[in-house]
Amino acid sequence: MSRTAIYPGSFDPLTNGHVAIIQRGLKLFDRLIVAVANNPQKTPLFSVPERQQFIAQTFQNDARLEIDSFDALLVTYAKKKGVHTVLRGLRAVQDFDYEFQLANMNRHLLPDFESVFVMTGEDYFFVSARLVREVATFGGDVSELVPECVAQGLQRKLGMPRKG
Ligand code: ADP
Repeated sequence: MSRTAIYPGSFDPLTNGHVAIIQRGLKLFDRLIVAVANNPQKTPLFSVPERQQFIAQTFQNDARLEIDSFDALLVTYAKKKGVHTVLRGLRAVQDFDYEFQLANMNRHLLPDFESVFVMTGEDYFFVSARLVREVATFGGDVSELVPECVAQGLQRKLGMPRKG
């Protein structure tokens, strides 16, 4: 039986922290659906297609990855896909509080829903997409914290300085 999980997030933009979680998720699951959240209440830096493109480029269309988007409740999307397991990354205690609430809310809404957590490595525990956006907006160099295609995308969008 092939095991599939959904890895949902904003991915605005994809960071090396997300990449590490996807790589490790692929060791636990046969397939991952990386689902880009389209939240109409947030104004993203990158559009959903741009965010999906960064993921596709970084993973060179790896056949074990499906890159999708969703704009419903996660459990509604999970039911539609027939996949009741989500993968999430944990950085620090602040993530734990939020993820603990979210996992329990999701299980309340869909009783056989399961959340699987992967701890970030020491290299990326301080990396969040929100901080990357903020630092890049003010001209900071985030090129070592994001894949090359994202660094180029940030440079196009914000004129981020490049190393060297
Ligand atoms: P953000 O990166 O701004 O926290 P996302 O919604 O894109 O927001 O995050 C999606 C998922 O990836 C969440 O489970 C989040 O905890 C996890 N994640 C993001 N960055 C990292 C990281 N550096 N290490 C581990 N998990 C991470």
